[in-house]
Amino acid sequence: MANTEKRTSQDYIDLEAKYGAHNYHPLPVVLERGEGPLVWDVEGKQYYDFLSAYSAVNQGHCHPKIVGALTDQAQKLTLTSRAFYNSTLGDYEKYITEYFGYDKVLPMNTGAEADETALKLCRRWGYDVKGIPENQAKIVVCEGNFHGRTITIISMSTDPDSFKGFGPYTPGFEVVPYNDLDALAKALEDPNVAGFLVEPIQGEAGVYVPEDGYLKNAYDLCKAKNVLFIADEVQTGIARTGKLLACDHEGVRPDILILGKALSGGVIPVSAVLADDEVMLVIKPGEHGSTFGGFPLAGKVAMAALEVVKDEKLAERAEYLGKIFRDEMSAIKTDMIELVRGKGLLNAVVINNQPGKTAWDVCVAMKENGVLAKPTHGNIIRFAPPLVISEEQLRAAIGIIKETFKKFE
Ligand code: PLP
Repeated sequence: MANTEKRTSQDYIDLEAKYGAHNYHPLPVVLERGEGPLVWDVEGKQYYDFLSAYSAVNQGHCHPKIVGALTDQAQKLTLTSRAFYNSTLGDYEKYITEYFGYDKVLPMNTGAEADETALKLCRRWGYDVKGIPENQAKIVVCEGNFHGRTITIISMSTDPDSFKGFGPYTPGFEVVPYNDLDALAKALEDPNVAGFLVEPIQGEAGVYVPEDGYLKNAYDLCKAKNVLFIADEVQTGIARTGKLLACDHEGVRPDILILGKALSGGVIPVSAVLADDEVMLVIKPGEHGSTFGGFPLAGKVAMAALEVVKDEKLAERAEYLGKIFRDEMSAIKTDMIELVRGKGLLNAVVINNQPGKTAWDVCVAMKENGVLAKPTHGNIIRFAPPLVISEEQLRAAIGIIKETFKKFE
């Protein structure tokens, strides 16, 4: 193709189909630019982004403060590895541990890596501190969990799309139903259980919000059995659900806290595991790490991203705007909507899928009208705009969503 020819969305889609692995099924829209809650495609059409890169862009697209931190640091020093000290990591470690109230942080890059790190920390704590016999440690996880895509993580998954055809699997996990305290209490009877890994709201499964009190009671059950309570807040953390952490809704302080995604405002992959010394110091030099984990760009970007969360009161915004969103969605008169659920600005609308009226069809129609969202598990549409969206913008997007449902009648 001649360089002067303007490429269309279809050109980009064809290019990906030909040269990229087919491990995703994107909505047919090709984005080129973003600002706050808005994105533009290569034809210049504007959309409200109601996915926020799976809650990685809580602070909005290309937030100037975060991008500024990135570009400033990028001109000084980007990567040293952990073979040497660098002049940004200590400041970042101090900042993030004080911000979340833990003794120590272990910096990684992706959510999956942070989850893997938490699993290793938990097992080692189980052996060194709790005294579980070698290679016997178990970690209790929940049905419907999503913690990423590595072999060990899919070994805990109950979703065949995630695990089928990728065995043999990593042993040492016990699955209990989500939101079921009796099942958890029973699983914790086993003295070899070292940890309980839980998403405070199951995001990928379809925004399943457990009953009030579940997290607090689960935490108490863990404490009674000397089991680590490990919260995967990769999707729910950083103000998404109306508090800094989703666990804050119940006053629970996890023994191990896993963060990712919006920790960098969606600018570069930054994840982190936070814990107190009793847990964190079980890992010694040479036993875990990552070439990029805690690199200078990550530290500067994450500090800026966390500052934005506080400065712009993103948790309070998510709480306030989320209520408006759920009220407005619940008021739509259509038999296409089975249920509206969520917390803060992490919400889902469950569609009563009928031929020609599926969640996918709704998402494609919303895209035509200027709102981007993505179905999960066939009939669930997650709605999670950047938390910087204004009330006026939110109401405009809600208007588009309502119009879209009307057109299906
Ligand atoms: N944990 C949770 C709760 C997630 O929602 C995700 C991604 O959606 C992950 C972990 C994995 O994060 P990443 O895709 O950065 O590996």
